Amino acid sequence: MTSPSAESRPVDDPAREDPDQDGALLDAVVVGAGFAGIYALHRLRRLGMRVEVLEAGDGVGGTWHWNRYPGARVDVESLLYSYSFSPELQQEWRWLHRYAPQAELQQYADHVVDRFGLREHITLNARVVAANYDAGENTWTVTTEGGLTRRARYLVAALGSLSIVNTPSIPGLDDFDGLTLHTSQWPEEPVALRGKRVGVIGTGSTGIQLITAIAPEVEHLHVFQRTPNFSLPITNAPMDPEYERGFKQDYGDRVEAARQSSGGLSAGAPVIRSALDVSESERQRIYEEAWQAGGAGVLRAFTDLMTNREANETAAEFVRSKIREIVRDPDVAERLSPRGYPIGTKRICMDTGYFETFNRPNVTLVDVRSDSIVKMTESSLETASDSYPLDVVIFATGFDAVTGPILNMGVTGPGGTELPPRWENGPRTFLGLATSGFPNLFMVGGPLSLGVLANGFFAIEQHVDFLANLLEWARERGYGRIEATPEAEDGWVRHVAELAHRTLYPEGPSWYVGANIEGKPRVFMLYSGGFANFRRECEEIARSDYEGFVFSSS
Ligand code: NAP
Repeated sequence: MTSPSAESRPVDDPAREDPDQDGALLDAVVVGAGFAGIYALHRLRRLGMRVEVLEAGDGVGGTWHWNRYPGARVDVESLLYSYSFSPELQQEWRWLHRYAPQAELQQYADHVVDRFGLREHITLNARVVAANYDAGENTWTVTTEGGLTRRARYLVAALGSLSIVNTPSIPGLDDFDGLTLHTSQWPEEPVALRGKRVGVIGTGSTGIQLITAIAPEVEHLHVFQRTPNFSLPITNAPMDPEYERGFKQDYGDRVEAARQSSGGLSAGAPVIRSALDVSESERQRIYEEAWQAGGAGVLRAFTDLMTNREANETAAEFVRSKIREIVRDPDVAERLSPRGYPIGTKRICMDTGYFETFNRPNVTLVDVRSDSIVKMTESSLETASDSYPLDVVIFATGFDAVTGPILNMGVTGPGGTELPPRWENGPRTFLGLATSGFPNLFMVGGPLSLGVLANGFFAIEQHVDFLANLLEWARERGYGRIEATPEAEDGWVRHVAELAHRTLYPEGPSWYVGANIEGKPRVFMLYSGGFANFRRECEEIARSDYEGFVFSSS
């Protein structure tokens, strides 16, 4: 660790330029006004920092602003999928549904921004297209698509893991005369689907929600499925006031209990048994109970579902048996049944009547794995052996996840170093927070962090609190330049890979490993050790005076 040099200028030097003037130096620019960016803004401002958020969209809320497709709804219980940093906020806010729909989450984001006086520090319609580090000045200069520039000591990328849209290039797509939509770029005004012949490509979490929501209204729905997905019922309902009252009475304890669980998703009793240590009938009883309770309980019913293939198969087969029970046409049921990969290794989906949708006479499942999409014409989608006349095509085809957002932000470090060549074989970060060779660049929920493998809000708060404490620690010591060491980064990359290989995760052809994007390196991009362990590891690093980071003055 290096010490501050004589010419250092402390980060909080009051003699610095007025940040309100154009081109003046800010302490931090945060990119993204999703829930991560909002909290980063609030937390860093509480440290007395001058911070501005640049947001590409025309509203706050990040993923919940963009993903406004019909049926969009969170699949983690809202009383837990929300900020915990303010007990007052927790008590005041009333969730109307057990699992909030997109509009409610959007309102929550707006409410938080206004309640904590953050709106004036957020610039909307400001998509960052370049971020350049000036080693002489130790500053980042950030440029938006519209030509706005901002200079800051710290650059905080709060980009979300799922913000770079993946749209497959289908020959003839531009010739299609009908309407083309992507779920993640859904228009703000309502889209008229009533009486239309609609095709949905993609059956991930998004497709499953969308298909269920629009099937009753469209004339005919063709579902173009490449890989069948495991989906569990969430049993959403309007919020029960009694339940809410009880929850709010010991909110803090419930949140802390949930934080002890691997994903920060459940406040329930910890499971202690292997799926293979119980009788077949007992196992079925436990799965059935979890299925009826709703949520991801089936996946959490035993200790070893994500580590033992044989145990995992018992849960997978239970879900397949449910599909056979629900879907009347055995051929359709079989085509909807996931095989060949462990349940949970592609992100588990949650639904409210998805499989039932395939009993409707106006819904047709098309298996594009065996009969692939070859082109679009003016009026139809063509597979190798058939033609489907359509008025609307909806892409529910996901994202260039986890690494896509930061690799597409035009980041250049000292001497013009770019990130993509450095990450050619997979992302390289320390804690998912920093990457060596790029001083003062920090990611919230970046690659190799816990990120989306846990309750998003818990992960965000942990990541941002760690960053804020790191910046405060550095400021108190007069350091204005912080960088992850290559050694710490190497160790973290290895550690995350080792953890992943103790699980079944790398076996799934998922966006977790970049399998959905052609040419992307196949690396498991998330920390799979669970929320409590991630937090513990971070606390140890903080206690060791942030070993793994190197500090210097500006
Ligand atoms: P996704 O899970 O990546 O699913 C994309 C779907 O599109 C997959 O079925 C994929 O098939 C298909 N696809 C992609 N390219 C295709 C092509 N060329 N031809 C045919 N099919 C193609 O994306 P997503 O559904 O948007 O979900 C992404 C993540 O967002 C989720 O995993 C979840 O973390 C989050 N999400 C959460 C919620 C919630 O909380 N309720 C809701 C929506 C999304 P393959 O599987 O074969 O690649």
